[in-house]
Amino acid sequence: MQVIIFTDLDGSLLNHADYSFTEAMPALARIKSSGIPLIMTTSKTRREVESLQLEMGVWEPFIVENGGGVFFPSGYRRLSIGDGQQRDGYALVALGTGYSRVREFLGKASGRFHLRGFGDMAPAEIAERTGLPIDRAALAKEREFTEPFILLRPDEIGPLSGMAEAEGFAVTRGGRFHHLMGNKQDKGKAVRMVRDIFRRNSGTALTTIGLGDSENDLAMLAQVDVPVLIPRPGKGHLDVRLPGMILANKTGAKGWNDVVQKLLNEQSGTPWEQDHQREDL
Ligand SMILES: [Mg+2]
Repeated sequence: MQVIIFTDLDGSLLNHADYSFTEAMPALARIKSSGIPLIMTTSKTRREVESLQLEMGVWEPFIVENGGGVFFPSGYRRLSIGDGQQRDGYALVALGTGYSRVREFLGKASGRFHLRGFGDMAPAEIAERTGLPIDRAALAKEREFTEPFILLRPDEIGPLSGMAEAEGFAVTRGGRFHHLMGNKQDKGKAVRMVRDIFRRNSGTALTTIGLGDSENDLAMLAQVDVPVLIPRPGKGHLDVRLPGMILANKTGAKGWNDVVQKLLNEQSGTPWEQDHQREDL
């Protein structure tokens, strides 16, 4: 039995307020030394994930923009990906709609609803709304599939979602923003695709663990063997329960660390091979 971990970032592996992962470092070190694939599964962009992976010393496939794109580094564990397209050193499987189409819809919707997307904001405004440093805020604007937005009148969410649905889009909610995306994508579909690629290539049984804190994580949590719900600061756990769900006791990186450590203590069996490290680092 081999383990794969899928994880949300903001509010899960990273603290909601300060984006720190320091308190998750003990569990991260164990994951890395055991060669366990840690698949970041996030609403963030590819550029943001690349920057975080470098900081954490992680080199693994990842899922960006709420399942819009699945990126496998070229040559990763010698896996055969199937029908991915090659892009910038990755095999990419795109489940999402192109960003220009998403922006086009948002432009139309802004005639009826009071909303502002990342494409309407300068990096300074995104930095202010998120608490991200300005260079990270700029990376958050480099979008490929989806658009985070704020709704200035919260009661418009129903009619806006209806209009989105009628035109082939969907709206979901993360820790800070609503997200507009194509209706063929979500974190769950992307997780299933990654799991199936590992399964096809390894031929052994896999246990999947998933960790998240928000509504946009539910499709991911529904796809994994061990769903873990992280509480949100001041708001507690999302009011959803799935079979076998583990509720973390603490918010953010600390809660993430404690649950992962406990699950790894309970795991035994086939270790992963240690042959997939990036050679140019
Ligand atoms: Mg989150």
